[in-house]
Amino acid sequence: MSNSNEGDSCQICKSKDVNPLLKWNRFSISECRQCKVVFATPLPSDQELNDFYQGFLFNKPRENEIAKTLANRKDELIRLFAWTNDLKGKSFLDVGGGTGMAYKAAKDLGLIAYYQDLDEQAKTFTKEQFGLTDEFILTELEGTDVKYDCVFSDNVIEHVKDPIAFTNLLFTLVAPGGTMVMKTPNARNTEMYFNPIISIKGYVLRAIKDNNLPKALFLYFKRFWHCDPPRHLYSFTAKSFDHLVGNMEETELTHEVSYYRTPWFSNTVTKWIFRGDSGSNSIKSILIRCLVLPIIPVEVILQTLKWLLLTLGILSPGGLVLTLRRTKR
Ligand SMILES: [Zn+2]
Repeated sequence: MSNSNEGDSCQICKSKDVNPLLKWNRFSISECRQCKVVFATPLPSDQELNDFYQGFLFNKPRENEIAKTLANRKDELIRLFAWTNDLKGKSFLDVGGGTGMAYKAAKDLGLIAYYQDLDEQAKTFTKEQFGLTDEFILTELEGTDVKYDCVFSDNVIEHVKDPIAFTNLLFTLVAPGGTMVMKTPNARNTEMYFNPIISIKGYVLRAIKDNNLPKALFLYFKRFWHCDPPRHLYSFTAKSFDHLVGNMEETELTHEVSYYRTPWFSNTVTKWIFRGDSGSNSIKSILIRCLVLPIIPVEVILQTLKWLLLTLGILSPGGLVLTLRRTKR
C-alpha cells in the first residue's frame, strides 16, 4: 500500500513515528505518535496560502457586540498575562491582531499597545473603529530591535508552515522579564462533541468527501479536528508544545501550557437565531429561524452538560495556551 507520508517526519518533535489519518483535498492529515500533534502534508506553497487568505481573515464584528467583546477581551488578557494593577509604561503587541479587540482592550487597560496584521481590511477597521495610528503598527516582525513586555498571538500558530520558526521569531520580540502568550485549538479535545454542528458538519461530512464513510465515522472517535489544510496546518497538544519549546533556539525562558474553554454557545444554531443579522427580517430568514427552533432545547442541554463535564474535569477543553517567559537578565 502506498503511504503518502513516507519519509515525512513530525515537524514539531522530529519523530518519524507518524500515523496517517485521512485525505483532505490534495493533502494528507497525520498524527505524530510521539507528541500527538495532528498535521498536514505536503505543506501548501506560499502562493497557495496567499490566494486562500485573500479577504478570508477579516470578519467584521457586529456593532452591537463590540462593547461586550471588548469587556471579555480585557478579562481574558488580565487572566492570561496575570496582570496586576501596575500596567503603566508596559508595552503590549498583538501579532495577528485581526479586528483589533485585544489591541483596544490592552490600550484601555493602560498599556502602550501595538498591533500587527497582514490583512489590510482588518488594519483599516482597527484604525477607524479604535483609533489605531501608524506609529503603533508593527509592519515587519523580522529585523526590529524593539522589545515588548507582553506579546500576544491568538489562534495564529496553527496557520503557519513552520511553528517552531514562528515561535522563535515572536520570542525575539519579548523584553527581558517579559511574557508571550499563544492561544490555539487543542487537538483531539472532547469538548467538540458538544458542538455537533462543527464536529459533524465541519469534519465528519467533510471527511466523507475524500475518504469512505466507515473511515470518516471511525475518525470522529479519533478526534482529528482543527487540522483542515490549507487553513489550519497543525492541531497542537500540550505535549507537542513541550517539544516545540524544547526545539526553540532560545534557552533563556520558562514555559507552561494551560487550557481554555470555547465560549458558551459558540458555533451553535441557538446563537445564530438570537443574534439577528441584516437579513433577519426577510420572510425566508424568519421561516428558517422558526424551522430550527426545536434545536434550541437540545443545544441548551448539550451546552449545560458540556459546562458541567468540563468543570468536573471529564472533558478536555477546546483550547490550549502556551505561556513563555523570558528570564530577566
Ligand atoms: Zn511529534
